[in-house]
Formats: sequence, C-alpha cells, structure tokens
Amino acid sequence: MTLATYKRKRNLKKSKEPAAVVRKKRAEALCFVVQKHAATRLHYDFRLEMNGVLKSWAIPKGPSMNPKEKRLAVQVEDHPYDYKDFEGVIPEGYGAGAVIIWDQGTYTLEEKNPRSWHITLKGKKLKGGFALVRFRDKNWLLIKTKDRYATTKDVTKKDRSVVSKRKLETLMKRPI
Ligand code: MN
Repeated sequence: MTLATYKRKRNLKKSKEPAAVVRKKRAEALCFVVQKHAATRLHYDFRLEMNGVLKSWAIPKGPSMNPKEKRLAVQVEDHPYDYKDFEGVIPEGYGAGAVIIWDQGTYTLEEKNPRSWHITLKGKKLKGGFALVRFRDKNWLLIKTKDRYATTKDVTKKDRSVVSKRKLETLMKRPI
C-alpha cells in the first residue's frame, strides 16, 4: 500500500491528521497544496495529487517564483488526498508543530520523465510553469519556468493561509 509509510510514522489516534485512505479515480482537475509547517525545522510541504494520493516534497526554503532560484525539494512519504485540507497543530510525535495551508489550487502535468516533471500550477500564490528535477535519490529541485508569472519578488513574504488567512505564528502560539 502506498500510504504504509504515512501510517507507520504517525499515531493517528492522537493526531487530527487525515486517515491513510487512497482516493478513488475522479474526473476533476488534479489538485496541489503547499503547507507551511513549523516542525523541528520550518519548511514548506509541496504536494501534488497523483493516483489518489499526494506525492510530497519538503522544501526548506519554500518555493520561489524566480527562475534563477533552484529550491531543494526532498521527497517524503505519499500523503492521503484529504491531507490537502489539513490545517492545525500536529501533537507531540512525528511532524509535531503547526501547519497552515500556504497555497492551494489545481495543476496540469505537462511532461513526466524519470528525472524531470513539468507542471503548470493554478494557485493563489504559485502560478504558471514549474519543473521538478530529480538529481539524487529523494533530492529534487523545484524551479520556476520563465513565463509571464516569473518574478524576483519573494513569494514567501505572502505568509498567510489561503484558507483561514491566519499566520503560522498564530497557530504556534494557540494550539487547537
Ligand atoms: Mn512537513
């Protein structure tokens, strides 16, 4: 089962994180989500819906809209589809810390080779073409494509949840 690692790492009786369920095939557009996560180290979790689960990468510096900034994206275990709606505080244990939905939307898979995926994102913050390039084991790079959405402005400065408008710091102070 593709979500076995997800299930093994967590105590889902104690955490409000979603159950390890693979979603059935649908006709709707594929979704993506980026969650800002204050775990042991702050990072952004970049997730793409694929075959009923969310393929996931942890991006320490967060995504960039600047094609000259390649961002390290470390692939982590697949997450259940419902994880795209998770915002809250993960209790003590694996991944403990606050999570906000930093961006979300739909995406198109333009091209998929073993070493590089080309995607187009339609999010509230992330827009246009991106490449995910695998360079070693679980290590990938997320690189913005040169298009009309490319900019040198730091997109991570937009730091509120696109769902609740809350900042990560607010959740860190007041666990729910
Ligand atoms: Mn994370």
